[in-house]
Amino acid sequence: MNSSQLISDGKNTIRDFPYWWEAAPRPMLEERALPTNIDVAIIGAGYSGLNAALVLARNGIKVAVFEAGQIGCGASTLNGGMVGPSFHKLGVAGLKHKFGSDRANAILKESLGFVDYLEGFLAEEKIEADFARVGRFRGALKPSHFDSMAAELDMLKQTIGVKGEMVHQKDQVLETGSRLFCGGIVYHDDAGLHPGKYHDGLVQRVREAGVKIFPETRVVDFIKAGAGFVLTTNRGGVRQEVKADQVAVCTNGYTGRTTPALRRRVLPLRSAMIATEQLPSELISRLMPKLRLYGDSRRLVAYYRPSPDGTRILFGGRASGLKDNPKVNARELKQSLVQVYPELKTVGMSHVWSGLVAYTFDHAPHLGQFDGAYYAMGYCGSGVARSSYFGRKLGFKMLGSPEGATSFDDLDFVTHPLYFGDPWFMPWVLGWHRIADRLGW
Ligand SMILES: Cc1cc2nc3c(=O)[nH]c(=O)nc-3n(C[C@H](O)[C@H](O)[C@H](O)COP(=O)(O)OP(=O)(O)OC[C@H]3O[C@@H](n4cnc5c(N)ncnc54)[C@H](O)[C@@H]3O)c2cc1C
Repeated sequence: MNSSQLISDGKNTIRDFPYWWEAAPRPMLEERALPTNIDVAIIGAGYSGLNAALVLARNGIKVAVFEAGQIGCGASTLNGGMVGPSFHKLGVAGLKHKFGSDRANAILKESLGFVDYLEGFLAEEKIEADFARVGRFRGALKPSHFDSMAAELDMLKQTIGVKGEMVHQKDQVLETGSRLFCGGIVYHDDAGLHPGKYHDGLVQRVREAGVKIFPETRVVDFIKAGAGFVLTTNRGGVRQEVKADQVAVCTNGYTGRTTPALRRRVLPLRSAMIATEQLPSELISRLMPKLRLYGDSRRLVAYYRPSPDGTRILFGGRASGLKDNPKVNARELKQSLVQVYPELKTVGMSHVWSGLVAYTFDHAPHLGQFDGAYYAMGYCGSGVARSSYFGRKLGFKMLGSPEGATSFDDLDFVTHPLYFGDPWFMPWVLGWHRIADRLGW
């Protein structure tokens, strides 16, 4: 994602460019000679890689971060900036079924702390990223969805004391100007932030700690050599070898052929977003009265929120295909937006953009070691807090510190026997879910 073309929907011109990059343009780091020897090589300069790098560098380790594109070209500056514990994917019962009661409770409890962790980190590091505890409203599309949300909330309250409340249909006008829902749920502790500003702050802290970040430098291969690794990098067509004692793979949705074993374990999916043009403040206050984060109970995730300055609505969802197709994404997301808020039918869009997220076969994120290399990935589309936290944990693991321990340790990172990293079938799977959503199944 590095273009900034204007595309047209027949009426408006829309920038094919992340809205976030207006306030947080991608930093231009000066070209530097690549090192020949380094203590730790990190692949990927998103939240995972940079958080790991920070821990390592502050503990005296010489770290180089290699980034295939420009700094922050991955999901970490493209996301919706919606920060939550992200334990919804399997639900309490699903987690207990999959991992057993004790492990499930530990995972839920640790996940609940992710937002607090990130808030504390931003404050400690003095990173100004428009972090605000606005809470999240999730609308129920059917009465049965409302009932399952209520049951899930009860379980979460009992198990880990989550702060949330059900909002009945008669009261939902206090939460949303949409009439699409039959009530919903509010999670009070969820927060919004500006992903680009957070990433910029992180880059700054990491560089201050002495980490060298190399943009436009793809790691095309790495092999074990003695006690360490030899990486082959490609910068502008020039290949160079770099020796490292340890390697961390932090490539999430962009995990590619360099790490075939990890590529087999994540399903990349494209998530896309649009920003509306500036809207009158009274319209935003009517549609999003408490300026929260929003989502709903459809199968194919849709997420929306006001921009941090409260002047636009940002709306996101799964893209139909795996390739970036801004025209199609803009058209489909606008349709979904209008489904939720019909009165936005005639408003224009200012930006459209997309990026890749990584799903896993067990719906859980993973971190650990594989063939000697460390990795953290598989955040299943909810990775702002998770990748920050996992990155930090990974850094401590690489130091051999007990602070690296987490309840996510040693979860079996499974693949499917016939899956080798090419998710050609996903558009069909998504198409099926799209039809099911339309038919209300
Ligand atoms: C449109 C969109 C909306 C989202 N919204 C939300 C949200 O609201 N809330 C939420 O919690 N999560 C959201 N997410 C998910 C979240 O952004 C990610 O989970 C998180 O940013 C992952 O961070 P990461 O550092 O692991 O990966 P990334 O930020 O994706 O970074 C991985 C990097 O690795 C680099 N790379 C890959 N291969 C190589 C190689 N061989 N050599 C060198 N570099 C390489 C890539 O270029 C990339 O920059 C969203 C994602 C997208 C795309």
